Amino acid sequence: MMPVAPEFTSWTETPADDELRLIPIGGLGEFGMNALVVHSARSLFLVDCGQLFPSDDQPGIDSIVPDFAYLEPFADRLQAVLLTHGHEDHIGALPYFLRRWPVPVYGTAFTLGLVEGKLREHGIDADLLHPVPDYGRVKVGHEDGGEIEAQWIPVTHSIPDACALVLHTPQGVLVHSGDFKIDPDPLDSRHTGMDRLKALGDAGVRLLMADSTNVGRPGRSPSESACREGLEAAFEQTKGRLFVTTFSSNIHRLQTLIDLAYEFRRRVVLLGRSLDRNLALARSLKRLALPDDLLTDPKDAHLFDPDELLVLCTGSQGEPMSGLARLLRREVKGLPIEPGDRLVVSARAIPGNEVAISRMLDEAERLGAETSLEGLGPVHASGHGSRDELADLIRAVRPAQMVPVHGTYRNLRAHGKLAASLGWPPERISLLDGGLCLRLFGGDRVDMPGAVPVGKCFVSEGVDHMVDARVVKDRLILQEDGVVFATLLVDPQTRDLVAEPTILSRGFVMLSDDEAYTELLAGVARKTYEEAPPEIRKDGEALRDTLRLALRRVIRKTTQTRPLVIPVVLEAPGI
Ligand SMILES: [Zn+2]
Repeated sequence: MMPVAPEFTSWTETPADDELRLIPIGGLGEFGMNALVVHSARSLFLVDCGQLFPSDDQPGIDSIVPDFAYLEPFADRLQAVLLTHGHEDHIGALPYFLRRWPVPVYGTAFTLGLVEGKLREHGIDADLLHPVPDYGRVKVGHEDGGEIEAQWIPVTHSIPDACALVLHTPQGVLVHSGDFKIDPDPLDSRHTGMDRLKALGDAGVRLLMADSTNVGRPGRSPSESACREGLEAAFEQTKGRLFVTTFSSNIHRLQTLIDLAYEFRRRVVLLGRSLDRNLALARSLKRLALPDDLLTDPKDAHLFDPDELLVLCTGSQGEPMSGLARLLRREVKGLPIEPGDRLVVSARAIPGNEVAISRMLDEAERLGAETSLEGLGPVHASGHGSRDELADLIRAVRPAQMVPVHGTYRNLRAHGKLAASLGWPPERISLLDGGLCLRLFGGDRVDMPGAVPVGKCFVSEGVDHMVDARVVKDRLILQEDGVVFATLLVDPQTRDLVAEPTILSRGFVMLSDDEAYTELLAGVARKTYEEAPPEIRKDGEALRDTLRLALRRVIRKTTQTRPLVIPVVLEAPGI
């Protein structure tokens, strides 16, 4: 695979006339936050603009979005955002992006329907959204002199209207797979457009960027239709209420469940805001059939026997505010979970959520519900293609250059090896990582000049602005090891200490004899101050740094912890 230079120093310069830059500013080497910058002398746009959900070690953070630093010097040239599909890891950062740079957004109808709901919540104008039909084409930034034409090719995935993107550029045809699988039997009969992709391959494709999520799985991913078997068995084997949780954007899974509810004469109860919203959107776009008289309001659920109810709820990842979490806390009146009931999780665990999901299943069992999937058959099918499907795409498109995207670094490498096993030589496989720039020039010249600045921005909904990464780190330290304050009172004239420093702490575990330990720290603060050279004593910032370092060193040595240490130096005249 191609060697990589460490730093792309001239990234702030506009690309040369025959140069096209591709820069993933998120989504490579990690799951989530997918965003790809496409930049030439006359075109600049993003493919997808996703967010990453925070983990337990990012307290108080609601979402994580890419740092758009690369775009800053070229912001007045930004032309559009093109979307492959409506999953949060592809659209979640849009409100933050558009608030700053209100450019047109192109995508298919269901994708833009989801985006519209998000923009409304953030008070952003939906006029920016321009729906594109399957196989539709858009000239990006045409009036501004852009020269790239994009085309949306349908693909099967776990959300309606997902697409691959084809970019016709002066440097050749680029194919971006988006998230995809090659489902031979999709519920809505909307197949992955392999014929079109093959035709493009026949005519010559310069570069393929392809989804690497399931490269570790052999064979082919099961069809969405295969889930019906396991879910039907759950209907057959459940005497009480049937609770099913899945992703609220997985409209085809929900359709299968609704169809089964109709056949098994169960009323459908929806629990969870995003389920209400997404099903309403899917119905309005005719992506879902749900007769009104099958639906029952949660308030009326008590009017029906347990075996007359199918409860669809949010919370497949153990989210504490979800419909399922409320059920488990018995907060939904008239809808208890009892012996005889069954809970089916019809979704995969997103890495990192396993503990929350296991806790949730435990809670359901404690209430007497059955949660085991044994003997049911498949109740979930991945929306991402396995190895044979990834190989099919590479062979159909036959790109001059292959770039694995979407996945951990291990996934990307494995996908590169898969291409190699199909006969692609190392120089035709480019292993990118977050921020690394790939450049295509006229002819067939390709290079990787290095990385541009990238990173993560933290969003806290309550304060509605970006939170500095240092704040997140401080919160984590506070949570783990607490905080220690050292207050020094200094005579403004003589610069001498006027009293022994005071030590205060919260959430910090002192050694067994607290008083002695406080004295020890106070002594360290005093000694550090007294031994500090006069120029440091005069400089507030340097003095606080010196005190912080000295105290941290002693605390680490004596307690093996690293609390937040905050020295406070006060001038105390007249004491
Ligand atoms: Zn997706």
